[in-house]
Amino acid sequence: MKYETVIGLEVHVELATKSKIFCSCSAEFGAEQNDHVCPACSGMPGMLPIVNKRVVDLGMTAGMMLNCDINRVTTFDKKSYYYPDLPNAYQTTQWFSPICVNGRVDIETSKGPKSIRIKQIHMEEDAGKLVHDDWTDTTLVDFNRTSVPLIEIVSQPDISSAEEAIAYLERLRDLLRFAKVSDCRWEQGSMRCDVNLSIRPEGSDVLGVRTEMKNMNSLSAITRAIKYEIARHTRALETGCEELVQETRRWDDNEGKSYAMRNKETAGDYRYFPDPNIMPVVIDDEWLDRIEKSLPELPEVKRARYIDEMGLSEYDADILASSRALCDVFEDALAVCGNAKETANWIITECMQVLNKKKMTADMLAISGTSLGQLIKLVMEDKVSRPNAKRILAAMFENDIPDVEAYAKQSGFIVSNDTSFIENIVKEVIAADPKSVADFKGGKEKALMALFGKCMKQLKGNANPQVLREILIAEINKI
Ligand code: ZN
Ligand code: MN
Repeated sequence: MKYETVIGLEVHVELATKSKIFCSCSAEFGAEQNDHVCPACSGMPGMLPIVNKRVVDLGMTAGMMLNCDINRVTTFDKKSYYYPDLPNAYQTTQWFSPICVNGRVDIETSKGPKSIRIKQIHMEEDAGKLVHDDWTDTTLVDFNRTSVPLIEIVSQPDISSAEEAIAYLERLRDLLRFAKVSDCRWEQGSMRCDVNLSIRPEGSDVLGVRTEMKNMNSLSAITRAIKYEIARHTRALETGCEELVQETRRWDDNEGKSYAMRNKETAGDYRYFPDPNIMPVVIDDEWLDRIEKSLPELPEVKRARYIDEMGLSEYDADILASSRALCDVFEDALAVCGNAKETANWIITECMQVLNKKKMTADMLAISGTSLGQLIKLVMEDKVSRPNAKRILAAMFENDIPDVEAYAKQSGFIVSNDTSFIENIVKEVIAADPKSVADFKGGKEKALMALFGKCMKQLKGNANPQVLREILIAEINKI
């Protein structure tokens, strides 16, 4: 018999807010254990939650990027379960009226375009982190992540292969990163995915027994896990070797196997209950408008505009449109210098080289586009040489340089237009190296390059190469 796969994904994304969802503790990643903790997020008695408005902003932004309807009155609920990383013994989440419903994400697959429907997006708090120490046989808890704001994006079971799941997740990540909702870093846990999977005879409209794999944290692991589960379900149905039960399974990526973890809880087990301490959040027209206006142009729209209106190559446009940070720097720099091709080159070649050296990704490009534009303009006007411009660019990665021309002057990086000054240097260099002069006159082209290099060094790179070359040849010919 032929089977078809039915997959629904629940994706948790940490929001790019400065502070946590219900208190003012920092939500930043990477602090010392339990540095970002206060009585509220560690569940002390008597503490009351206050909703971080920025979380609602980003929840709405995500919803609009994923074509959702926004619920104008959205409420928070308690989801009860006990675990040592959850100090309140309930998670504050949204059950009865989540912020977004009925969305859609369009993906490309090898069989053509497909739409994956979004059931809902809800806002909730993250749990803390347990650190198991096998050596001392103890478990420690780190509450830094407790109450870090999340959205959970719940898809309808519209995904039918690992390939489609990956296309969906990549598209989701692109859209959310573009809208600055989250940095979506799998490796830091700011994007995680639960995979719900079942199979059924092809064409059937009855769903099979579903298993869930929680907290998957890489695309490659998700691909392997889906393929493994499809094979396991198929074998169970065909041979009867195993009874499929609705359960939560743990994926062991090292062994390439999934293991039964616990029977699947149902919604009733969690005793969802409206949180009486948190007022309903009412979203008025003005708020909705403000978020709508803040939405970015989609990456594919930018890409097309860069090619059609600015004359960039597809290659350049692809690289720039792959990251919001690159787009922002590109557009700001272009507004100052007016040359799209030059600007694209500076970002794709020079900026990327610095980022690579620092082992940073494109999304981490944080220099001012306006400053970069000033620098490109100085190069185009022959006021700063390219090698010196690269030095200024390197400095821009360390410090903000709001007035690039002033900085170039102060650092001695302005090209000299004073030909008599250049002539004097050339004369000195020639006088000090009669051998190279003789070699060049004897037909050795390379000797000229040696002299040229010495002059440029004396001039600290501040000469137009063509002008210097002309003066150099003229002076040699005088001898
Ligand atoms: Zn706190
Ligand atoms: Mn959740």
